[in-house]
Amino acid sequence: MKKISYMLLAACTVLAAGCSKNTGVGGAAGEATPATIQANTQLAKDLKLGDPQDFEDAKRGFIARPNGKVLSADGTVLHDYDAYQFIEGQAPDTVNPSLWRHALLNAQMGLFKVTDGVYQLRGFDIANITLIEGKSGWIVVDALTSRESASAAMAFARKHLSDKPVTALIFTHSHADHFGGALGIITPEEVAKRKVPVLASAGFMEESTGENVMVGSAMGRRSMYQFGKNLERSAKGNVDTGLGKNVVYGAVGILAPTQLITKPTEELVLDGVRFVFHNVPGAEAPAEMTFAVPDKKLYGGAENLAMTMHNLLPVRGAKVRDALRWSEYMQQALDQLSDAEIYVGQHNWPIWGKARIAEFITMHRDVYKYTHDQTVRLLNAGLTPREIADKVILPKSLSSYFGTRGYYGDLRHNTKAVYQFYMGAYDGNPANLNPLPPQESAKHYLELIGGADKAVAAAQTAYDKGEYRWAAELLNQAVFGQPDHKGAKELLAKTYEQMGYMAEAATWRNSYLTAAAELRNGPPTKGISKSDVIEMLHQTPIERFLEAMAAGLNGPDAEGKDLKVNLVLTDTKESYVLWIENAVLHFKRAEPASDANATLTLTKPIFVKMIAGTAGVKDTLLSDDLKIGGSKMDLVRFFGLIDKAPGTFSIVTK
Ligand SMILES: [Zn+2]
Repeated sequence: MKKISYMLLAACTVLAAGCSKNTGVGGAAGEATPATIQANTQLAKDLKLGDPQDFEDAKRGFIARPNGKVLSADGTVLHDYDAYQFIEGQAPDTVNPSLWRHALLNAQMGLFKVTDGVYQLRGFDIANITLIEGKSGWIVVDALTSRESASAAMAFARKHLSDKPVTALIFTHSHADHFGGALGIITPEEVAKRKVPVLASAGFMEESTGENVMVGSAMGRRSMYQFGKNLERSAKGNVDTGLGKNVVYGAVGILAPTQLITKPTEELVLDGVRFVFHNVPGAEAPAEMTFAVPDKKLYGGAENLAMTMHNLLPVRGAKVRDALRWSEYMQQALDQLSDAEIYVGQHNWPIWGKARIAEFITMHRDVYKYTHDQTVRLLNAGLTPREIADKVILPKSLSSYFGTRGYYGDLRHNTKAVYQFYMGAYDGNPANLNPLPPQESAKHYLELIGGADKAVAAAQTAYDKGEYRWAAELLNQAVFGQPDHKGAKELLAKTYEQMGYMAEAATWRNSYLTAAAELRNGPPTKGISKSDVIEMLHQTPIERFLEAMAAGLNGPDAEGKDLKVNLVLTDTKESYVLWIENAVLHFKRAEPASDANATLTLTKPIFVKMIAGTAGVKDTLLSDDLKIGGSKMDLVRFFGLIDKAPGTFSIVTK
């Protein structure tokens, strides 16, 4: 047993975009075509892009801006504060003008004073840190994605404000871009020594550590599309993500809360500041809470509110979110706001003024409810997801409001999410009940069309007319049906590029442009680096790993196999029996079975290292913390049945 590294249990999550190091993708991007320029020009005419209000808000209270780079311990550049400085002035032809406006707003980065005793650090990562001055130190709201970005942000705040200790840490919700940098804010030792309260809502720890272990590999891979991690930062590449500039993917960790908010509403005094927390689970995140600081007339909307329509179903994939509940939380927020005059979010910029805050929340309430209700109306009339996505258009009162336009989420994708929430992915048409896999049907289509050359010629005609959606559909058949056809790949790359240049949603733009780059250069060679999330994996319950391990068992290979392994964790005093039965891997918490083929005795840190694939021979065989009893061969056979999932699979090619 040299090195046991199996299926990626990479809690690399969500934001895992960043997990892979840049693999050099990024082909020769083309210019915008006349059709793209025309579409972008028309949109610019339809919107009041010159409205200065948001820019005043995004710049208000500016104190200082960081420069330079944030490096990891091994010298890798994790974040370049200056990477987006090309974003200024008028929208280039290659960026949707509404997205460009949003990208300009998110480019207003640095330390900002929100009101007396309240500050925000924006642009240090994809999310914000909100700092509230307590009697004796800083109450920190959220911790960014990584230890490196969080500690850089805090150091910046201390330099420009005051060097006070952290007196409380609040996690608004269970997504990694809000807790992953916890260890860069405060150490567990300090939390224990000074009894610093760490607050989160009920279910936070389970949701945050377990949420993406099961499908972390696929989600991480698809996140590369959503966030455009491997794209160059340029007017022909990544300009934004909608929620902020990009994820700073360094060392992801977590701190266990010392106190949970479990009631719908709870009041609490932290370091002399009165907080009112509202639990809002199951909308944007499974565990989430908003907060108010009444004495400062401040309302913090966590991430149910952002300066964009959010995702009911992220492009990277996730469990579908509940649009109706989300909308109901918005109504509750309106009822709970009382006399709040300042709104702060954990993404994007704040809003000042009672009426404007109420308008902002009302728009969010109604965008999600309109999306929900109109999708349901149309699905009850028999329309299918693709038809509904093309049919639902927001009323002017909603679509003209920038704060809910689709920069992160997209209306069309969200209608499909509502459909899926109620009806599942199947549209009810038996033609789609058992269709051929894409590559097989593509071959048939090509045969019928008369070959890939003809498909490409037809696609070229569509492309020249600006009919990109049709061109993409045709070319996708050509690329899947004849994977070695270079012309098909290149024209599909060009087509996706134009779709990216026209996309208002940053997540769509990133997806199209990543697709174009991968058509030209292939998928990345490196997937998620599991060692980045090791600190978080240490906090993950062992059952989550075992569930994910079972889901990595290669069924066909395991057929007829009868193996039983004891897993004994000496430090946590946990013991599990794992066995294969009917090509299914089962486990139960139990004393070691006497008839097991092998017994693996080790510590949880070693086990986590093995899971993360970072344990070498030294860590395992030579370690005093690991012992193997019974048959070593059987143990190797057992782990050999678990598939590896490096998270580098191809998406736009076969
Ligand atoms: Zn977030």
